[in-house]
Amino acid sequence: KSMQKTLVIFKPSSIQRGLVGEIISRFEKKGLQIIGIKMINLSDEMLNVHYAHLSDKPFFGRIKRSMQSSPVIVMAVKGFDVVRVVRKMTGNTNGRESEPGTIRGDYSISMQENIIHTSDSEGNAAIELKRFFNEDELYDFPQILGSVIYSDEEK
Ligand code: ADP
Repeated sequence: KSMQKTLVIFKPSSIQRGLVGEIISRFEKKGLQIIGIKMINLSDEMLNVHYAHLSDKPFFGRIKRSMQSSPVIVMAVKGFDVVRVVRKMTGNTNGRESEPGTIRGDYSISMQENIIHTSDSEGNAAIELKRFFNEDELYDFPQILGSVIYSDEEK
């Protein structure tokens, strides 16, 4: 385990429903450091690569249309073991199955319209951060409250 970075995408479902602030707040309260954030339109090319593992599924066209129905917000967060932590906070893909207390469990009742995307492994987090952020859009600065959020071993 180590200090890591991961990607969160606020899907159109969270933007249209006005859930962005609440969800950012959850990550902030957990102790995660926001190190990059911006609003973008997802191009066909970006989505073909990002969801390449689903390209042969019957719902591929539908998820692409859904992801392009409004701009999205991409956010990079940093923390100890954060890829796994954020994935746990996200919950099961299907909003009907995700545990209450998780973001999808609390805000989604849909398989497709499940509020946020989060990277599912450290390797994918690195690839996906590169996909959506230029190097100069990710910031490296001290987390002033680090000493009350982490032990010395965790920093
Ligand atoms: P996750 O987002 O949890 O990592 P996947 O990578 O398997 O899950 O799927 C990517 C996204 O595609 C999901 O978040 C969801 O919006 C959509 N999706 C996945 N499976 C289905 C499905 N069977 N029907 C509709 N949409 C789906």
